[in-house]
Amino acid sequence: MPDVRANPDAEPIVSLKEVHKRFGDNHVLRGVSLDVGRGEVVAIIGKSGSGKSTALRCMDYLETIDSGAITVCGHRVDQHDVDLKALRLDIGIVFQSYNLFPHLTVEENIMLAPRSVKKMPKAEARQLAHRMLGQVGLLEKASQYPEQLSGGQQQRAAIARSLAMEPKVMLFDEVTSALDPQLTGEVLRVIEDLAAKGMTMIMVTHEMNFARRVASTIVFMNDGKIWEQGDASILNNPQTEALQEFLRNEL
Ligand code: ADP
Ligand code: MG
Repeated sequence: MPDVRANPDAEPIVSLKEVHKRFGDNHVLRGVSLDVGRGEVVAIIGKSGSGKSTALRCMDYLETIDSGAITVCGHRVDQHDVDLKALRLDIGIVFQSYNLFPHLTVEENIMLAPRSVKKMPKAEARQLAHRMLGQVGLLEKASQYPEQLSGGQQQRAAIARSLAMEPKVMLFDEVTSALDPQLTGEVLRVIEDLAAKGMTMIMVTHEMNFARRVASTIVFMNDGKIWEQGDASILNNPQTEALQEFLRNEL
């Protein structure tokens, strides 16, 4: 994998330092530290319940942390006075469920945030929506409603909707887990395209072959901590019994 980062020594775009998060007595994140540079593609793997989604959600301030520090694109995400509007302009997040508005067409779904948040004129927003739909191969679906699309197409539309805000970093949480294998491929191709264009991405995924091929860094989480981290070679040479066991069960 070539190093596409413009300047690998620059400030990380996303930085977590000793992050702790509890839900009641459940100590879910137990000191997570991670730096992600511009253009880096990070795949977070690990068994269910290891804290992967919580870690992503904390980066977008969908959850607040108990201690530690998180910085995203220069925004401190660990403080109560975080500028949510500025943060959400810089970060896009896509989940397993697509959450498109059913009463809006695909292009209207994509136009919504540029119109309301960026006050973009309607014609310009529509142009932007079409450009984004072109990027995910869905231009011909612009005037259809979400229910007329397959799951894979809806997920690509959800990614286009996120991209329309021109985020500096994209988070993906198991975006293909609800899809049939043949629909999974078309969504992964969109993400792979984004990686090739240099988008900074952090994705939680169970698609090990995809992670191996596309990620510049693989992070193995276990019990609320990062146990192993490195390039794809860590999958060939796992150092911990936990990663060995995880890979045995995944493959
Ligand atoms: P993963 O994404 O790796 O499967 P999660 O981050 O979703 O793991 O969950 C980690 C732990 O945190 C689990 O024990 C889960 O039950 C708990 N958890 C996650 N979200 C919440 C929440 N909103 N309230 C209470 N517990 C939660
Ligand atoms: Mg999860």
